[in-house]
Amino acid sequence: MALITCSECKKEISTLARSCPNCGAPNSSTVKHSNNTNLDWSSDDDKKLLSLYKKNVPEFALAKILKKRLTDVRIRIIYLMKNNK
Ligand SMILES: [Zn+2]
Repeated sequence: MALITCSECKKEISTLARSCPNCGAPNSSTVKHSNNTNLDWSSDDDKKLLSLYKKNVPEFALAKILKKRLTDVRIRIIYLMKNNK
Protein backbone atom coordinates (compact mmCIF):
# COMPACT_ATOMS: atom_id res chain seq x y z
CA MET A 1 0.00 0.00 0.00
CA ALA A 2 1.40 3.39 -0.98
CA LEU A 3 1.88 6.15 1.55
CA ILE A 4 1.68 9.90 1.08
CA THR A 5 2.41 12.76 3.44
CA CYS A 6 -0.58 14.58 4.91
CA SER A 7 -0.71 18.16 3.68
CA GLU A 8 -1.76 19.36 7.14
CA CYS A 9 0.15 17.43 9.82
CA LYS A 10 2.89 15.92 7.58
CA LYS A 11 2.33 12.40 8.89
CA GLU A 12 2.31 9.47 6.51
CA ILE A 13 -1.14 8.28 5.50
CA SER A 14 -2.36 5.66 3.04
CA THR A 15 -3.23 6.83 -0.45
CA LEU A 16 -6.42 4.81 0.03
CA ALA A 17 -7.51 6.70 3.14
CA ARG A 18 -10.31 9.19 2.59
CA SER A 19 -8.89 11.51 5.19
CA CYS A 20 -5.91 11.76 7.50
CA PRO A 21 -6.42 9.56 10.61
CA ASN A 22 -4.30 11.98 12.64
CA CYS A 23 -5.80 15.39 11.87
CA GLY A 24 -8.83 14.58 9.69
CA ALA A 25 -7.66 16.59 6.67
CA PRO A 26 -9.13 15.24 3.42
CA ASN A 27 -6.72 13.09 1.44
CA SER A 28 -6.02 15.03 -1.74
CA SER A 29 -4.95 11.90 -3.64
CA THR A 30 -8.38 10.31 -3.21
CA VAL A 31 -10.24 13.56 -3.86
CA LYS A 32 -8.66 13.59 -7.32
CA HIS A 33 -10.19 10.18 -8.04
CA SER A 34 -13.59 10.98 -6.59
CA ASN A 35 -15.45 9.56 -9.59
CA ASN A 36 -14.68 5.96 -8.66
CA THR A 37 -16.17 3.74 -5.96
CA ASN A 38 -13.11 3.89 -3.69
CA LEU A 39 -14.58 6.61 -1.50
CA ASP A 40 -16.98 4.11 0.02
CA TRP A 41 -14.01 2.21 1.45
CA SER A 42 -12.15 3.12 4.58
CA SER A 43 -8.59 1.96 5.13
CA ASP A 44 -9.94 -0.33 7.85
CA ASP A 45 -12.26 -1.95 5.29
CA ASP A 46 -9.27 -2.45 3.01
CA LYS A 47 -7.19 -4.06 5.73
CA LYS A 48 -10.04 -6.37 6.69
CA LEU A 49 -10.75 -7.21 3.06
CA LEU A 50 -7.13 -8.01 2.24
CA SER A 51 -6.48 -10.12 5.34
CA LEU A 52 -9.68 -12.14 4.85
CA TYR A 53 -9.08 -12.49 1.11
CA LYS A 54 -5.61 -13.91 1.80
CA LYS A 55 -7.25 -16.50 4.07
CA ASN A 56 -9.29 -17.62 1.04
CA VAL A 57 -12.57 -16.28 2.39
CA PRO A 58 -14.99 -16.37 -0.57
CA GLU A 59 -16.04 -13.06 -2.13
CA PHE A 60 -19.71 -13.36 -1.18
CA ALA A 61 -18.70 -13.83 2.46
CA LEU A 62 -16.41 -10.79 2.25
CA ALA A 63 -19.32 -8.73 0.93
CA LYS A 64 -21.48 -9.86 3.83
CA ILE A 65 -18.80 -9.19 6.47
CA LEU A 66 -17.99 -5.73 5.08
CA LYS A 67 -21.64 -4.92 4.24
CA LYS A 68 -20.72 -4.12 0.64
CA ARG A 69 -22.09 -5.17 -2.70
CA LEU A 70 -20.39 -8.24 -4.19
CA THR A 71 -19.43 -6.31 -7.32
CA ASP A 72 -17.81 -3.59 -5.20
CA VAL A 73 -15.83 -6.22 -3.28
CA ARG A 74 -14.59 -7.77 -6.53
CA ILE A 75 -13.55 -4.39 -7.95
CA ARG A 76 -11.84 -3.48 -4.67
CA ILE A 77 -9.88 -6.75 -4.51
CA ILE A 78 -8.58 -6.18 -8.03
CA TYR A 79 -7.70 -2.60 -7.15
CA LEU A 80 -5.92 -3.59 -3.93
CA MET A 81 -4.00 -6.41 -5.61
CA LYS A 82 -2.75 -4.01 -8.28
CA ASN A 83 -1.69 -1.42 -5.70
CA ASN A 84 -0.18 -3.92 -3.30
CA LYS A 85 2.77 -4.96 -5.44
ZN1 LIG B 1 -2.93 14.96 8.92
